[in-house]
Amino acid sequence: MAAFTVESPNVRYTDSLIESKYRYQTTRVTRGVNGAHKVVPVETAIDFQTERRVPRLGCMLVGWGGNNGSTVTAAILANKLGLTWHTKDGLQKSNYFGSITQASTVLLGSGPDGDVYIPLKDLLPMVHPDDIVLDGWDISAMNLADAMERAKVLDYDLQRQLRPHMEHLKPRPSIYIPDFIAANQESRADNLIKGTKMEQVNQIRKDIRDFKAKNDLDKVIVLWSANTERFSDVLTGLNDTAAALLNAIEKNACEVSPSTLFAVASILEGSAYINGSPQNTFVPGVLELAEQRSVFIGGDDFKSGQTKIKSVLVDFLVNAGIKPVSIVSYNHLGNNDGKNLSAPKQFRSKEISKSNVVDDMVESNDILYSDGKKPDHCVVIKYVPYVGDSKRAMDEYTSEIMMGGHNTIVVHNTCEDSLLASPLILDLIILTEMCQRIKFKVGDDTEYQTFHSVLSILSYLCKAPLVPAGTPVINALFRQKSCIENIFRACVGLSPINHMGIEHKLS
Ligand code: NAD
Repeated sequence: MAAFTVESPNVRYTDSLIESKYRYQTTRVTRGVNGAHKVVPVETAIDFQTERRVPRLGCMLVGWGGNNGSTVTAAILANKLGLTWHTKDGLQKSNYFGSITQASTVLLGSGPDGDVYIPLKDLLPMVHPDDIVLDGWDISAMNLADAMERAKVLDYDLQRQLRPHMEHLKPRPSIYIPDFIAANQESRADNLIKGTKMEQVNQIRKDIRDFKAKNDLDKVIVLWSANTERFSDVLTGLNDTAAALLNAIEKNACEVSPSTLFAVASILEGSAYINGSPQNTFVPGVLELAEQRSVFIGGDDFKSGQTKIKSVLVDFLVNAGIKPVSIVSYNHLGNNDGKNLSAPKQFRSKEISKSNVVDDMVESNDILYSDGKKPDHCVVIKYVPYVGDSKRAMDEYTSEIMMGGHNTIVVHNTCEDSLLASPLILDLIILTEMCQRIKFKVGDDTEYQTFHSVLSILSYLCKAPLVPAGTPVINALFRQKSCIENIFRACVGLSPINHMGIEHKLS
């Protein structure tokens, strides 16, 4: 049953659809001849149509046997089975903390008893994580119970209870091209698809179809949570167009990475593809292929810890009129991700992904940054095996305040990396699937359309958000959350939350 119904002449519920007639208000600004801005309020009619039936959804993880893959699998099973376990602090219950769809609330509106909040997952009919069917690939053949033990993320008493439910889960063989991930990963690679790149793509496509058929699924979403690869070269005639990329795969060209092969296979199967790592999987040829086939792609790189805080803190500082001038971020971690990132080319992918996260905030304020100079921004990552998955992130933010004064904020963050990333994986899957059921007609359009194939609504969950060419990249966390919330509100005919609260300010 829906958590609420909207009573409005602009909203219609049928057995299969929620339809909303919406007035989308924006502000168009142009610079006049004398330099002053010309501002025009614009209102556009948009008809939204949302499918109500929640499908049977499968997700295939690339890197299923990794720390994230095994942790998210364990979390779904533990929640589904309602498991509790003993820790030194007492009895712990399964939950989905850290997932915005499952554990965050949104303001629905106000009533006689004040503000009313509901879970984000209840704004529209979304898939529940307990119902997501998982499968995946890994270059390591280890079963998921052993992989969970290897990850050293979850308490022993929980692992003990989960073992019988995870022992039989075995990752499918995957594509291993040693040149793309760190050499130190070689000893894991014992579960491989042989053959040419074309044969490998065909095998991945076959795996997706097999998973879908065996589990009677309506849809499958593929998500990369495997090791960070080095960046691929983008070359004319190799991967700059969809046709060139497909041809390059046919010709078995060296510079096509495993993650790009997975993306191509997923798109050709009509399965959305999400990239949880920083590498440039989405070369121009993949972007074009996704657009041609109207398949969603999203990424890049989960925004789980340090960058999430950065995208809040810098937003706060710049919006408070304080000028960050130096941001230094240091990490050490001891899991396999850290081991892989200890190789220079893979670290470089992460460094690039982490480097642009303050750009939009800096560019929004030309009082503070009148000279156009960005803050110094340095990122260091070190591999320290002993700390395992319990990553340390230390950040120093130095800002200029009034009259030449300085303010330095230091943040020290310690937590299990995979317990931050796992709820993000769930949100990425759930939100992507939800967006597949939303259509809209703009203005006088006669046909309904879907969102652009580059699903930028996922930006909240991504360190380096992928957006359609020519559209702005938003990194500021609360702007990203408002985007999700307000688009979903529009689907049920509700205006954006504007925090004006005029009804409470009347004399
Ligand atoms: P992990 O090393 O534990 O797991 C990665 C898994 O991928 C391993 O099991 C490995 O065997 C497998 N693998 C490598 N290449 C593969 C291929 N071509 N095909 C299939 N499997 C392959 O790492 P993790 O901690 O689970 O992180 C996974 C990815 O997520 C990393 O790239 C990491 O940078 C990214 N990430 C993680 C976080 C976080 O908070 N945990 C945040 C942002 C990004």
